[in-house]
Amino acid sequence: MTYVDLALDRLSTDGDREALIGGDTRLTRSQARDLLFRLADGLVQRGIKPGDGVAVYVGNTPEAVLLNVAVHLLGGRLVFVPPEPGPGELRAFIDRAEVSAVVVDPTFDTKIDGWHLQDLPGDPVERAPHPSFATVSYTGGTTGLPKLAVHGPNLAAAFSAFKDTPPQKMLGTTLLTHGSGAGTAIMALVSGSKLVLGPSTFDADTFVRLAEEEQITSTVFVPPMMYEVLDHPDCPGPQFTNIRIGGSPVAPARLRQAIERWGPVVRQAYGMTEAFRISSMPPEDIDFDRPETLRTVGKPSPDIEVEIRDGDIWVRGPSVMEGYWGEPPLSASDGWFNTGDMGHFDDEGYLYLDDRSKDVIVTGRTSDNVYSRLLDDFLVTLPGIRQAAAVAQPDDALGEVVHVFLVTDVPDVDFDRIRASVVAELGELYQPRGVTIVPQLPLTKVGKVDKRKLRSRFR
Ligand code: AMP
Repeated sequence: MTYVDLALDRLSTDGDREALIGGDTRLTRSQARDLLFRLADGLVQRGIKPGDGVAVYVGNTPEAVLLNVAVHLLGGRLVFVPPEPGPGELRAFIDRAEVSAVVVDPTFDTKIDGWHLQDLPGDPVERAPHPSFATVSYTGGTTGLPKLAVHGPNLAAAFSAFKDTPPQKMLGTTLLTHGSGAGTAIMALVSGSKLVLGPSTFDADTFVRLAEEEQITSTVFVPPMMYEVLDHPDCPGPQFTNIRIGGSPVAPARLRQAIERWGPVVRQAYGMTEAFRISSMPPEDIDFDRPETLRTVGKPSPDIEVEIRDGDIWVRGPSVMEGYWGEPPLSASDGWFNTGDMGHFDDEGYLYLDDRSKDVIVTGRTSDNVYSRLLDDFLVTLPGIRQAAAVAQPDDALGEVVHVFLVTDVPDVDFDRIRASVVAELGELYQPRGVTIVPQLPLTKVGKVDKRKLRSRFR
């Protein structure tokens, strides 16, 4: 049984219940089931067979959710095309993924050609789901060279837990072609929830409106989105039963603010394109009198092994990818994968992320590590500072020095006070050499702070 079987089970009962909503489209479960089979048939009519690669370049729409499931239903290899790179790089990426077809939604973006999603539906031929399929995701948004991570049908194992959760009214915020958005869609389908899709590029006004109109109970945020919603004049009240946040560091002060606003329903989760659902922190374990409980990413998920080796986090389990496309599978070695994140466990088995290894700033006369994450978290506790991102600035004498980008809501920022506060809290090493005030931090298409872009200002 794969997640596709679970999703079809849900779509086959209570056919009049709403399942997928986006823009002007509202699909009931039976309409969604019908379109799913039509999309699969359209692919078959165009020659797609089990094992074929189908690249999808689509935005956040109900049709795109069903297209992704249709490719899996046929036993295909679904290749997510990210919107970030330019057309040349996209072409190279698609070539490298060795696909048989490209499906595009021209209302989303016209950077590349392919079969139009709108023309794809064929006949409503019911087909039994193929037992095996794959998903290929581009990883590289904030991490350097792009790679293609391949996941097999283990998605079912990673998401089957959601089949026993009561149906929710979910709001999808991140791109369907990123693990976070794809995962949200699968969670919704498997749990029989109503999924409302926000725009492909997040905006807080729309979030606030949809949360109210659709009486949303559950959503997934990357941190900058949650901060924008918290800062919104019409920020929703305690209407949620379940909010997941993760994908990049969550400032403890902001997590606390979210819990104060929405109640103990905010779950910090840690995962990555190469390894879903590594760990999560149950909201009921958070205790404001123990500030570290706002910082930890919780305990490892039941089916995943996590080890710290020389400060790096290594993982193994069914939600870890099979390997990178074109490289030997992880199973050819021992199945362990180095996340590139640095972290540690406390005595109670809670995991803490210290930094991404690429975001560590190596500075000082003895080349010590500044964990940029610690500095970001501390800076937003200072009055008037709404967002902060510390990055390495190359320096002839010290290799790197600390530079911070700040979003503030006060006109006159006292840099000397900021520096003094940082030194008092974190020590001399963390003292920012440079400070730049920006109206907003650059975000990747998924909505995470793009530290790579900030670093590139110094090159
Ligand atoms: P991506 O592959 O684009 O999903 O990025 C995954 C990376 O995001 C991880 O390797 C972490 O560095 C970071 N990340 C994910 N969740 C968290 C979290 N809860 N706190 C801090 N960083 C996170």
